[in-house]
Amino acid sequence: MKDCIFCKIVAGEIPSAKVYEDEEMIVFKDIEPKANIHLLCVPKDHFALLTEMDEGRAALVARMLRTIAAKHAEWGLADGYRLVVNQGENAGQTVHHLHVHVLGGQTLPWD
Ligand code: 5GP
Ligand code: ZN
Repeated sequence: MKDCIFCKIVAGEIPSAKVYEDEEMIVFKDIEPKANIHLLCVPKDHFALLTEMDEGRAALVARMLRTIAAKHAEWGLADGYRLVVNQGENAGQTVHHLHVHVLGGQTLPWD
């Protein structure tokens, strides 16, 4: 989608520190990390909210989670990690292209 920063990263128009890519998703380092390791798993299909998921997108999100599960140790997250999906204004979602934050590399504060 035009004017979407993550679509531009997917298209290679904006550089990113990529750690994984396949036909339907990309995983790269967050530019403003909130933990020692902070990755973003982004589907190549542009949609903003989980409410926009049809069956196909639900299967895609499931494959994103399975990819994170399969690769987390390679990404330095063998000791544990946290997934965050911000949805809408109250959650502070700033990029309106669905993404899963993958946080770790340290003990993560909860409160
Ligand atoms: P949100 O607040 O929407 O859940 O998260 C958006 C995330 O995208 C933020 O953590 C922000 O640092 C990250 N981000 C925004 N623009 C860029 C960019 O151009 N490159 C990278 N690698 N991350 C970005
Ligand atoms: Zn997009």
